[in-house]
Amino acid sequence: MILAWVGIVCLVAAAVVGVRWFVDRVDSLGRRKPFPWFGVGVFVAIALGALVPFFLRLRLEEQLASAASEVVGAPVEVHCQAFGEAFVDVGQELGYVRFGPDGVPERKTLIKRQQCRDLASYVRNPDEITREHVVAVHTLTHEAIHMSGVSNEAETECLAVQHNEQMARLLGASPEDARRLAVYYWEQVYPRMPESYRSDDCPGVAR
Ligand SMILES: [Zn+2]
Repeated sequence: MILAWVGIVCLVAAAVVGVRWFVDRVDSLGRRKPFPWFGVGVFVAIALGALVPFFLRLRLEEQLASAASEVVGAPVEVHCQAFGEAFVDVGQELGYVRFGPDGVPERKTLIKRQQCRDLASYVRNPDEITREHVVAVHTLTHEAIHMSGVSNEAETECLAVQHNEQMARLLGASPEDARRLAVYYWEQVYPRMPESYRSDDCPGVAR
């Protein structure tokens, strides 16, 4: 939100500079004053620098929410951690879903800044199966499973393993690439997860 406000304030400042020139553009001797290109230009440039990343993030959040909603089977929201939030963040998790006191999860999730960046990169290149892409897609799947009402981590993790292929497809991967991503997570990342996230009877993903 800080970005949006910086952008709006700078647009207003650009307009103020422009309007001030317009109402007073002829001096007392009848000479035309030049348009304040520099002042207006600086404010417009800062506004674009703030608003473009803001709108890109909104678009990414919408895309991630639509994929996650499909996996959950109900409409959910995805929020990508903003710069200011990442600064004060101390948690270890890559994503987060809040559960109410009644054990019912909220239908919205927070995805950490780095994983959102990796997801943005993944949706542009879903054929690139890097560890960062795999972990970021899985983070979204994992939080989607939480939002569907599962709180136990081992159970959530195993269900997420089963849904990574679907999530990758929803984010634009081909059937083969989606399967490769799911297999990568199951074979390379899952075995290294903390004990509380694993279960011996998780069926996993076949090649
Ligand atoms: Zn979890």
